[in-house]
Amino acid sequence: MKRIAFIGLGNMGGPMAANLIKKGFELSVFDLSSEAMERLAQTGAHPAASAREAMAGCDAVVSMLPTGRHVDALYCGSEGVLTALTAGTLVIDCSTIDTATARRVASEAAALGLPMLDAPVSGGTGGATAGTLTFIVGGEREALERARPLFEAMGSNIFHAGGHGAGQMAKICNNMLLGILMAGTAEALALGVKNGLDPGVLSEIMTRSSGRNWALELYNPWPAVMPGVPASRGYQGGFMSALMLKDLGLAEEAANLCEANIPMGRQATALYRAHVDDGQGPLDFSSIARRYGAP
Ligand code: NAD
Repeated sequence: MKRIAFIGLGNMGGPMAANLIKKGFELSVFDLSSEAMERLAQTGAHPAASAREAMAGCDAVVSMLPTGRHVDALYCGSEGVLTALTAGTLVIDCSTIDTATARRVASEAAALGLPMLDAPVSGGTGGATAGTLTFIVGGEREALERARPLFEAMGSNIFHAGGHGAGQMAKICNNMLLGILMAGTAEALALGVKNGLDPGVLSEIMTRSSGRNWALELYNPWPAVMPGVPASRGYQGGFMSALMLKDLGLAEEAANLCEANIPMGRQATALYRAHVDDGQGPLDFSSIARRYGAP
């Protein structure tokens, strides 16, 4: 497997595609943003004029798009690209989307002889750049084994969660917990700061105590506590609050369907909804700290 079509070159897709090129894959790429296309062209990718053109003659397709609506529009319907692919081409969607769309697209692909995986990722833009992402895969094991060299070029952990949609379900559970942890971390830091504590010292204390968690340790939401994270560059780049709200919405949707009790998840959703409604959707999700008074 050599020739890869990569669709969606944003905060995550851009560095993921760049890592595939570094590992020797030939990439034909497409994004609606010409800036994103130019960035990838500079790393050696072939920029295509459309998703369909990018896929001509490819061995596998990787997509990294914002939502299920975008994934559905890319692959399905009269304008969708599935019908343009040669049977046997491997289709991998790395976007975080609802399980129903993931299963439906995979079943349309299967009807055309196209093995498909839902393979959402965890690890943030840092992990995408470093090539250390975790891939959470749903679909046939045989397709996963075919995709393994691609996953290994972009990540360091590969999990088979189950059949089609299982990757998305596991990712949705993870991100619900992440939304809760980020809001909780910001809340605890703000309480300390209001009581005269230094946010850096408090972060160090909690990182070595039982409050330790990924948001606190690797993605600290308080400005100037940690170099290189969005909080220390005005919450630019990273994982948009609007996308975190989308993932919390997916968790609520899944919980409603199976009548699961998720009071913490619903609280995190309410916080992120208010944040996005206040116009903060494009900022990284750690900017939730601003609702607690972070500068
Ligand atoms: P992003 O908005 O930065 O990138 C999405 C890209 O898709 C944009 O460049 C956009 O122009 C492009 N696009 C949209 N529709 C398109 C189309 N029809 N054809 C071609 N390109 C199209 O988003 P992101 O942060 O890269 O996130 C992508 C997915 O990964 C989301 O589902 C998100 O939830 C998930 N995710 C993000 C992170 C993170 O830290 N940013 C981490 C894990 C998972």
